[in-house]
Amino acid sequence: MSKKTISISQPQLGEEEWHALKEPLTSGWLTSGPMVKEFEEQFAKRHQVKHAVAVTSATTALHLSLVGLDIGPGDEVIVPAFTWVSTANVVLYCGAKVVFTDIDPHTFNIDPIGLKDKITSKTKAIICVHLFGLSADMDEIKKVSGDIALIEDAACAAGASYKGTPVGSLGTMACFSFHPRKSITTGEGGMITTNNDQLSTRLGILRNHGASISEEQRHNGPQPFILPDFNELGYNYRMTDLQGAVGNVQLKKLDKFINERAKWASYYNEQLKALDWLHLPEYSGQYGHGWQSYVTMVDETKSQAPRNEIMRILLEKGISTRPGTHAVHMLSYYAKRLGIKPEDFVNAKNANDFSMAIPLHNKMTEEDFQYVVNTLRNI
Ligand SMILES: *Cc1c(COP(=O)(O)O)cnc(C)c1O
Repeated sequence: MSKKTISISQPQLGEEEWHALKEPLTSGWLTSGPMVKEFEEQFAKRHQVKHAVAVTSATTALHLSLVGLDIGPGDEVIVPAFTWVSTANVVLYCGAKVVFTDIDPHTFNIDPIGLKDKITSKTKAIICVHLFGLSADMDEIKKVSGDIALIEDAACAAGASYKGTPVGSLGTMACFSFHPRKSITTGEGGMITTNNDQLSTRLGILRNHGASISEEQRHNGPQPFILPDFNELGYNYRMTDLQGAVGNVQLKKLDKFINERAKWASYYNEQLKALDWLHLPEYSGQYGHGWQSYVTMVDETKSQAPRNEIMRILLEKGISTRPGTHAVHMLSYYAKRLGIKPEDFVNAKNANDFSMAIPLHNKMTEEDFQYVVNTLRNI
């Protein structure tokens, strides 16, 4: 086989997204307006949840959901130690304390058993990450969390499901990302979903500077002298209608994207299972995987070379790989600030050191997948 170049991830965008941009560009309504409204409605419908509130990223979605729960100094929020850094950062934005908990090495998600020991009387929320598109085990988490608020970090998990229910309504709120590394994209962008009417209204106000009437209402209203009143500290986390227009098109393709990815994930499962040095993603039939990434673990006791060397060899062959994500407690800022050691969360550390995401995206061809499989088999 001749050498190919295969990126770890590539967004799938085309003519339809290009055409969808024409409407807001010609109407001149560029900030949150009809396109965002439509995106919110369709997104909520797809995830079988009452409300969806569009924002600028999953990071701002997570921040706003903590603000919506009035989390602040003196409060503790539990987050898994293996996740994207912003899952933890948002807790610090609120002046609250980050409490890490270790992951289950098989799923990369919160280990519900270890979680129990982290809960104190100060615990105000648990951020349950659905990493790489696989839902956290929400029922097991609920068995230990009592009435503590659960926030789904569903940044990687648009369209995924748990025991037949789409993610997005499994906790108090859920936060999604439309960064180009995720399954559907708006460039940057995020969404908060919830079944709670009051929270939804409050989140809508908080993302718009805390204004008690929206720009759209003000623009359309008959009373030009009315400026909004501000009852609380808000933010500008509004999604633009340009992003909304692209999001509407991308959302229509979500299930097709996931089905394609699931098909190729099965192909990887089948073709790579004989490699004893490579552990493949593990999950049971009760999960509808969103397949944002296909993340393996390199078993260095059996592999020809350490993980980093394998990643380097693959890159030489034109195949991009990445560690799954990072162990946040090992990042300098957190290690110093909280005085924690890498070994304090050993499963997160192992995932940090030995995980390897291999290419899985909707621009890959059959030949690309075969090339990845053959290259891995020949290592
Ligand atoms: C990507 C990601 C985020 C951040 O999403 P942005 O939209 O880029 O802010 C947060 N949490 C997890 C688990 C992610 O994978």
